[in-house]
Amino acid sequence: MFAMDLKSKLRRVPEFKGVVFWDITPLLKDRVAFKDCVKKLADHFRKMDIDVVVSIEARGFIVGAPVAHELGVGFVPIRKKGKLPPRVASLDYRKEYEADTIEIREDAIEHGDRILLIDDLLATGGTAKANAHLVERLGGKVIAMGFLVELGYLHGREYLDGKYDIYSLINCKSTESHDMMDGTCSGPGISCMKASQKGRG
Ligand code: AMP
Repeated sequence: MFAMDLKSKLRRVPEFKGVVFWDITPLLKDRVAFKDCVKKLADHFRKMDIDVVVSIEARGFIVGAPVAHELGVGFVPIRKKGKLPPRVASLDYRKEYEADTIEIREDAIEHGDRILLIDDLLATGGTAKANAHLVERLGGKVIAMGFLVELGYLHGREYLDGKYDIYSLINCKSTESHDMMDGTCSGPGISCMKASQKGRG
């Protein structure tokens, strides 16, 4: 079976929230594409001894929870301000099109837990960095980050200082649809294989 062309399942919306918006809902609706994504992400991180997957609401949950399930590890949600019962740790942050405050249960992470951060999309990297800081503040060790989509033209990977292993399934090199590539990975201590090379049968 040929590897699925995940790029064809991503919808480019020229103007939404003031940016070129990449809509993942057609990909989620496609049962083969969705399953393929979850499996590819889980396979990539399977040997990293992950204790917990952490994701931010809401689109992060859609991807992060099934990846945690596939890896056989627990899942911890990061939520917008006021959604979690006390006690919580919180952090203000900025992403591509808005600023917000995020929170996590103070007792959700054990000191030394090996954390995998999963989100739907890496844009400027503001969200990913905020998530990592929140987890690290509670004593967790962020081992790696995984995304369905990376907006390469916003250089989120560089903003994250090369500090984390980062793996994405689709990389948008510009705001144009024809500039979508298969995903990339980079970071300290990772042996990289392109998403397009994985799972080809
Ligand atoms: P950032 O903090 O800039 O990396 O933004 C990442 C978060 O914002 C992700 O959780 C995405 O869901 C959302 N996001 C940011 N920019 C876009 C975009 N152009 N299209 C779709 N989602 C986006």
